[in-house]
Amino acid sequence: MHEMSLAEGVLQLVEDTARREGARRVKLVVLEIGRLSSVEPEALKFCFEAVTHGSIAAGAALDIVDVPGAGWCLPCAATVPLQEIYGACPNCGSHQVQPTAGTEMRVREIEID
Ligand SMILES: [Zn+2]
Repeated sequence: MHEMSLAEGVLQLVEDTARREGARRVKLVVLEIGRLSSVEPEALKFCFEAVTHGSIAAGAALDIVDVPGAGWCLPCAATVPLQEIYGACPNCGSHQVQPTAGTEMRVREIEID
């Protein structure tokens, strides 16, 4: 389950930020998860709760923002919406589509006290 290592990465970042800002606790973490990133939001939530247990981020709310996928279709020479990482272009059906958005997961916002 790669969500566990992702959750640990998020916690690391949250702890670094909290320490830098002299926070007493972390209230909210907003995560952007791309639809093409193959990250399972429910699994990540579960892992986040597990890894933050006993940390400064214990009990922090986790907000997940769904980022739609998009890719550059070579035959169409246009950006098209993508539902899956190796999906076909919805316009021409080609698989020569380079994912350009929605492939990443990143921390958008951290709220601390
Ligand atoms: Zn196309």
